[in-house]
Amino acid sequence: MVKFKLKKEDPIIVTVGRDKGKKSKIVRIVKDKGKVIAEGVNVVKRHMKPSQINPDGGIVEKEMPIDISNVMYLCSKCGKGVRLGIKVLQDGSKQRFCKSCGEIVDKD
Ligand SMILES: [Zn+2]
Repeated sequence: MVKFKLKKEDPIIVTVGRDKGKKSKIVRIVKDKGKVIAEGVNVVKRHMKPSQINPDGGIVEKEMPIDISNVMYLCSKCGKGVRLGIKVLQDGSKQRFCKSCGEIVDKD
């Protein structure tokens, strides 16, 4: 089982592919596939046939999952994609931190 250091709502930057360099936010993590869905990333347009719900048909834009290895956490302090490390605190709780600047990224 792959451990994911990224979480929902995390700011990310896309590092590979068509949306390379795009800054976004994680909408959903598809754990069993190792993918994430990020706001406005890997958007595909689908032509919809007219249906009862959508009588005129038309074009629907949908975000498709991308591989989790194609995104990096966007550290607000570094202003770039970074790797995260995990610190275990004295009370046993875990906190994620930026490996570049050391900034704790979990605010709660
Ligand atoms: Zn940083």
